Amino acid sequence: MTQPTEAAQVSPSDDVLIPVLRELRAESPSVGAAKLLALLLTSQPTWTVSEKRLRKVLQREGLGLPPSSVELRGSINATKNDSNETGVEFPTSKMNPRLNIGRWTKKAEVKDFGLEKGKGLVATEPIEEDELMWKEDPLATCPDWDLQARQTRSEACANCTRTLPAPTSPPIPCPAAPSCSASFCNRLCMVRNGNVHALLCPVQNPASIPLLDFIKAEKWKALGAWTRLVALILSQHSKGQTEEMQDSLEFVRSLAGMTFEKRLKLLAGLKPTDAASMELSKKSHALLVQAFQSPPQLAQQKKLRRILGAKPLPQDVVNDLLSWDGFHLGLGKMSLNLESFGGAYALHSHLNHSCAPNTSVRHLDPTITPRISIVARRAIEPGEELVIAYVDPALGVKARNRALAEWGFGQCQCTKCVKERAAGGDDDGAESADVQADDLATELRDYLGI
Ligand SMILES: [Zn+2]
Ligand SMILES: [Zn+2]
Ligand SMILES: [Zn+2]
Repeated sequence: MTQPTEAAQVSPSDDVLIPVLRELRAESPSVGAAKLLALLLTSQPTWTVSEKRLRKVLQREGLGLPPSSVELRGSINATKNDSNETGVEFPTSKMNPRLNIGRWTKKAEVKDFGLEKGKGLVATEPIEEDELMWKEDPLATCPDWDLQARQTRSEACANCTRTLPAPTSPPIPCPAAPSCSASFCNRLCMVRNGNVHALLCPVQNPASIPLLDFIKAEKWKALGAWTRLVALILSQHSKGQTEEMQDSLEFVRSLAGMTFEKRLKLLAGLKPTDAASMELSKKSHALLVQAFQSPPQLAQQKKLRRILGAKPLPQDVVNDLLSWDGFHLGLGKMSLNLESFGGAYALHSHLNHSCAPNTSVRHLDPTITPRISIVARRAIEPGEELVIAYVDPALGVKARNRALAEWGFGQCQCTKCVKERAAGGDDDGAESADVQADDLATELRDYLGI
């Protein structure tokens, strides 16, 4: 992907900007300012428009936001960053109106920290050190590659990933058995799975084979998780589970995110990235569309329609999940929000970062189950924010902030960073430069499969 240099970028006059904005607004009537800006800068890659200016123009021209879609700035203690004026934006998130936190815990509530910081979780009662605050299953997950292989061999449940056979009941095979060798631990697991496996099954939906092979070959977890999230929402639609589908969609819409292109731009600012990455993203989008929307062969189309049913997917859902822009943003969201095991979690994704975290995430056994436990690292007072570390807290203050910058965050304002900066904390030596290069290499490998 070629990035225009700053010198080649122009700030459009209002006369030029407004008609383009009107068009974008007509196409995407309900998106917030940050997403609209992302759409604008994607369609006009040489333009420089700050979010502040965009918001002003939207307000003045009556193209403003519906009240339900107020977008919030970055989900971290970040300062306002001048880089925003150069067109690089913070990840943005919004409140999820359908999130029922009581499902998981009574010990925390979602708090809106305002435009600068976004949403987060706050303790509602005293919490003791090592106390389990909640357990959570992912909405969608890209299981470890070994675990995926075990699922296809019927050694792990195609739905919940538990080891098979379960001690209590014989496995229930995929309806396409014996051509497909996947199984579920019991009938309940099969019912809960809906059409998710069917959409990913090599026999029931052969159009998904190239996509799943590509994900495995590239070891691309963000794409794997997005694929499963799309399969989940398509399954809910096909089963007439309207409420569940709205829950899933709101989860996706509320995740902090930035477009894939923005993410690449950030990475490119630190180290040149390969044009191949853009090709990979185009190829993966084409494979996703083939798998779930328009298979290339008639026989495959018939099989897909048998799973999805006749009821067409609403256009806004198509836009969010399968369009090029929706796919871009979705990949960016997965990349930002996936837990290290590869799952996207509704409540866990609300946890903000601190370099001195009071909360940690534990897996009982990530090779068997994607369930996570959220545990207090120390005693927590009511009203205190629950925070986890997005980067290794053992790194020096500069290395930590560089790692955070890759995610589009401004300078971290956690107490540890403020203290270390005040004490002149500066370990920007050769060692931390190596750490940065390593991080980036890992990042690129994980994210792009390079
Ligand atoms: Zn199961
Ligand atoms: Zn199957
Ligand atoms: Zn910090």
